[in-house]
Amino acid sequence: MLFAIEQIVGTAALRGLKGGEALENDTLQPILEEAGKFAAEVLAPLNQSGDRERAVLENGVVRTPTGFRDAYRQFAASGWNGVPFEERWGGQGLPWAVAGAVQELWQSANMGFGLCTLLTQGAVELLTAHGSQAQQQLYLPRLVSGEWTGSMNLTEPQAGSDVGALRTRAVRRDGHYQITGQKIFITYGDHDFTDNIVHMVLARTPDAPAGSRGISLFIVPKFLPTPDGRPGPRNDLRAVSLEHKLGIHASPTAVMSFGDDGGATGFLVGEENRGLEYMFTMMNNARLGVGTQGVAIAERALQQALVYARNRVQSRELGSSDPAPVAIIRHPDVRRMLMTMRALTEAARALSYSAYAALDQSQRGTDAEMRARAQARVDLLTPIVKAWSTDIGCEVASLGVQVHGGMGFIEETGAAQHYRDARIAPIYEGTNGIQANDLVFRKLARDGGAAARDFLAETTGAAEALADRPGDDARRISALLHAGARALGTATDRMVALAASDARSAAAGAAPFLRLFGAVAGGAMHARGAAAALDSLAGGAGDPRFFRARLASARCYADHVLSAAPALVHAALDGATSVLALDDASF
Ligand SMILES: Cc1cc2nc3c(=O)[nH]c(=O)nc-3n(C[C@H](O)[C@H](O)[C@H](O)COP(=O)(O)OP(=O)(O)OC[C@H]3O[C@@H](n4cnc5c(N)ncnc54)[C@H](O)[C@@H]3O)c2cc1C
Repeated sequence: MLFAIEQIVGTAALRGLKGGEALENDTLQPILEEAGKFAAEVLAPLNQSGDRERAVLENGVVRTPTGFRDAYRQFAASGWNGVPFEERWGGQGLPWAVAGAVQELWQSANMGFGLCTLLTQGAVELLTAHGSQAQQQLYLPRLVSGEWTGSMNLTEPQAGSDVGALRTRAVRRDGHYQITGQKIFITYGDHDFTDNIVHMVLARTPDAPAGSRGISLFIVPKFLPTPDGRPGPRNDLRAVSLEHKLGIHASPTAVMSFGDDGGATGFLVGEENRGLEYMFTMMNNARLGVGTQGVAIAERALQQALVYARNRVQSRELGSSDPAPVAIIRHPDVRRMLMTMRALTEAARALSYSAYAALDQSQRGTDAEMRARAQARVDLLTPIVKAWSTDIGCEVASLGVQVHGGMGFIEETGAAQHYRDARIAPIYEGTNGIQANDLVFRKLARDGGAAARDFLAETTGAAEALADRPGDDARRISALLHAGARALGTATDRMVALAASDARSAAAGAAPFLRLFGAVAGGAMHARGAAAALDSLAGGAGDPRFFRARLASARCYADHVLSAAPALVHAALDGATSVLALDDASF
């Protein structure tokens, strides 16, 4: 993690920003070590028991699994909830690049637990950007400290990907609004961690225009705060039921009913009918957070598979005269799986940190041009980090099961849980199909591919810089990255044109296009890592074994992932014919 932040993302770009001083004087390592300790000692031991016990709804009250409430209290008391937030609200003011890394640790240790903090984080971002002064003063200190948590209420039975179809109503009454309606799939919609929950709810006023332009955003607290900020009377909302899910069993996913007794009291954020725009602040933050979950679950699956591969003894070693069976880590195909897991995880991690670093620059950059360029970068990378990293989470967790053989399919090892937990990440926070559409129809289309070309120019720069370094690894990685960047450049130009001329064909190719983008972006991350590793090896600083391993991982990525990337151009741009060939009945 340190290598990704310091050597690949580069701390130089962050040091000049507000809060960036924390990256000087070796403060980063102790922060990550402390967070790692908390994750390993408090959260990770509850991962498997939380999966088995599950969150339950009993007599109208949600109970999280044994130990979770206490872990949350320790988490909040240690100040972990406020890592990236402004000091004036009680936060630590650290860069998002650090907060993203710390977030990865919570998600790796216990995704069912980590989701709660991820959503509170989004609620803080939302209110910081769009809340009134009074709302900020009331809610932000309590959300930043973790005294209260936040939830996100978009989805309704008829309004999933199509948020504009939502029907929850908000009627003006005496300076506030009365909210009535049902939301489904609400993560941590109710729980026993805190005395209050701050629901961020999308609803429609009676005279609102149809579709997504008629949606407003409301703060709907579980308990209405008293003037001095304590939880007061109970609001008219409740968790009706919890979903039985494939994974993340510890995280309560609630059906929420608002206004069964006349209307829940809600407080408008900003102006009416601009709710979806405001909610995007929370969603974009959560999309990066969910991308981080993909990285996190991949890392957990990798660590678990490694331990198993070192201990499981099976078959003699190929090419050895010794007939004794060996640990399976000695078998080339198992090594291929472990190296692939490692190479993919490291690529996705560096890409997610680089998106967080761009977010830091967009928010805390010193000049307007830097902020605008960084914002374009975050906008571009958000769907890629969300979708590509969560697909990697599933792929790596699946390989993790495979490394375990039959025991991977048996719940007691825990490998199966990672696979089950990983599967939600490509679905929520906008499915990966919606992310691909976002990349093609918004992020590429709105600037004609300019931000993508800016990213590509840096990628080519990384390939050229690596080509100047000695050795076969540098040459091979550089050549494969050049080829990938050329392919992505061609695909970007053609996709911009296709999106304008034939939207259905562009949509049919959007997912392979996103995959191509992710593969090349991951290659750029590895190329920078390989250059830094070679420099460290040449300079004799640090642990040579670590740097050689980074180099091998970058080479593995180039040989096994980047090499296949140019083939995706065909699927992205010429694959629509077959995809759209059949009428519905012929499927
Ligand atoms: C465990 C869990 C936790 C969740 N937490 C929350 C939460 O806290 N708050 C909240 O508001 N929601 C939450 N959700 C809801 C989640 O965000 C939605 O499930 C998701 O956005 C997809 O909506 P849907 O399930 O209705 O699927 P649908 O929209 O019905 O999609 C079904 C399929 O069709 C595809 N599809 C739909 N429309 C398009 C299109 N225009 N173009 C291309 N493909 C399309 C989708 O990609 C998907 O593959 C959660 C869901 C789960 C399962």
